[in-house]
Amino acid sequence: MMAGTALLQYFLRMPVGGESRIMRCIGVYGASGFGKEVLPLVRAQYGDDQTNITFIDDGMADGDHIFSFDSFAALPYDEKLVTIAIADSKVREKIALRCADAGFGVADVKAPNFVMLDDVEIGEGSILASFAHLTSKIRIGRYFHANFYSYVAHDCVIGDFVTFAPSVRCNGNVHIEDHAYIGAGAILRQGTPQKPLRIGRGAFIGMGAVVTKDVAAGDTVIGNPARPMVSRR
Ligand code: UDP
Repeated sequence: MMAGTALLQYFLRMPVGGESRIMRCIGVYGASGFGKEVLPLVRAQYGDDQTNITFIDDGMADGDHIFSFDSFAALPYDEKLVTIAIADSKVREKIALRCADAGFGVADVKAPNFVMLDDVEIGEGSILASFAHLTSKIRIGRYFHANFYSYVAHDCVIGDFVTFAPSVRCNGNVHIEDHAYIGAGAILRQGTPQKPLRIGRGAFIGMGAVVTKDVAAGDTVIGNPARPMVSRR
């Protein structure tokens, strides 16, 4: 682990004579599971000789390639961009506000092989991982995560801070409200233009669930067909 000036020089890639320096730094917020998968995508999309890429994480000590929020804020780059690679949507929202207050820009992340067809609108802060697929006539809000192999089919409307774990299959005419979490491998049945399938605000869809009916705000559903989870306590 490096410390102090040595660490700073490493990140700024400043020669001792100091004639050139890197202008831009991109922080991948969250150095745990998802962050490790997102950082290579950021490198592929943004990497060049004017850009440094690092983790930001408040739960780990500052070190080689990891900074706390405060340490990242103190780095003397001309431009700082952040992508928030944390699945918990409430944490993501809190960090998004903090980063905006600090004046950091937003780095949207798109895997080299993600697919987007026609008439897709998506807000800032999204992460579209490898093999993610957004087809046509889709509206998506801010800070959407589509983990690898997830898809969103035609005529879907998705709110802010919605999270898709890997391999979510969201079929056509599904409406998903803010802060919903869709677990790995879940399937959301196709709705119709007259009656879209609705997933309410903050709903939690368990992994592998097959959702055939609307899910109320805040509910957790599991199984095939998906049903509300009942506590046995
Ligand atoms: N974290 C953070 N600031 C916060 C909340 C979380 O830096 O305010 C970090 C936390 O220390 C952890 C990461 O975000 O390293 C979240 O990792 P986790 O494995 O819980 O979630 P995932 O990577 O699956 O989204």
